[in-house]
Amino acid sequence: MKLKINRRLVFRIFAVILAFSCVFSSMLFSAPVASADQELEDLQNQYDDLQKKIEKNQKELAEVQGDISDTKTKINALNSEISSINSQISILDSRIGILNSKINTIEANIQQTNADIEEIEANIEDVEASISETQALMQDTREQLMGRIRENYMSGEASTLEMLLSSDDLSTYFTRKELMTRVSESDAQLIRELEIKIAALNTLEESLEKDKKELQEKNEQLETQKVDLEESKDDENASRREQQTKKNAVSSKQYEAQVLLNDLDKESAEYKATIKRQRAEQEQLSKQIDAYIKEHGSSTGDTPDAAYENDGNMAWPVKFQSYVSCAYGRYSDGSPHWGMDICAVGGNTRGRPFNAAQGGKVILAVNDGGWNYGFGNYCVIDHGDGKQTLYAHSDGLQVYVGQIVKKGQQIGIIGATGNVTGPHLHFEVRIKNADGSVSRVNPANYVRNTTA
Ligand SMILES: [Zn+2]
Repeated sequence: MKLKINRRLVFRIFAVILAFSCVFSSMLFSAPVASADQELEDLQNQYDDLQKKIEKNQKELAEVQGDISDTKTKINALNSEISSINSQISILDSRIGILNSKINTIEANIQQTNADIEEIEANIEDVEASISETQALMQDTREQLMGRIRENYMSGEASTLEMLLSSDDLSTYFTRKELMTRVSESDAQLIRELEIKIAALNTLEESLEKDKKELQEKNEQLETQKVDLEESKDDENASRREQQTKKNAVSSKQYEAQVLLNDLDKESAEYKATIKRQRAEQEQLSKQIDAYIKEHGSSTGDTPDAAYENDGNMAWPVKFQSYVSCAYGRYSDGSPHWGMDICAVGGNTRGRPFNAAQGGKVILAVNDGGWNYGFGNYCVIDHGDGKQTLYAHSDGLQVYVGQIVKKGQQIGIIGATGNVTGPHLHFEVRIKNADGSVSRVNPANYVRNTTA
């Protein structure tokens, strides 16, 4: 706890001392607290304001850091969502690739089949041409044959012509043995051969038509398969678009979170910079306060009043209590600590007595239970040798201003008033320097724990 002297308190002491009439008036003006003035108070107020600001900024920084951690967790979750979507997309891509290659194969098959059909159609055309040709040849042969028969008729065999003309076809005609001798044997042979050829060509054409039909059926099947594959591909593409839409949404969330994280990082850096700057300002103020105290220090004399019974050696201020929870110097958060905190390990300090470290006179005693700059109930004893001691956070003081106390005399009970996290005695030693100024010094250099 930093030493804090307030003008209002000085007036309060004034009032108390005035109540004791002029007997104490000379003491009032020699009391060190009387040297406090507006400038010191202002410096101390500034210091305290900065401390409050730093604590507020530290709290807000902690919140920002919590947000940073939350946002990082969120980004990680979104990243893993994106990679899961990516693997879905690549599965779909490979399925689409397989379907594409199947479709390509089928299309090649269809093309091949179409080419085969075209070839067969050309063959059929050839066969049909051969049939026509053969039929024409047969027609010629028949006409020649008819010519010969006519010649026979002209030579006087009328009944033969009638028989011939009444026959339905040449075959019927040729079965009639009586006419066989009248036609050329070679013509008959030729016509039989042509008939066989036409029959063979017809069989070939039928076979080609059958092949063509089979190929057409095959093509239809391939087209059906292709349609099925195209449908599957459409489905896979739809799934892929769905995944891509999902990925876009997650990516935009991830982007927003990243923007937020950047803002938070910036905010965090700003808080850190502000806290650093405020600490530097506080350090500066601390130096100014020290300088002020040196310049406007205590006017306490070097020779103690005999009534103070100052024996020259300060005593440990708490009997049977040796634990120093926070030494002179710095608090754990880096702010200065002008005294020594004494308490019990594990508590049970509250209500225990504390004692004057040295004989002297009480120059300040505030027992109103208020905050009092964080001291709570506190008192200051002047030992008349240029040293003063301060006792803070008491649950109850047992001294009054102007009272002469003896070394080791109980002056109050340990408590937890003012700025504390638990019951303890805040003990300070203030010493007059060679140049007449007064500093708050390390109590460990003046009191030794004799209770351990
Ligand atoms: Zn303290």
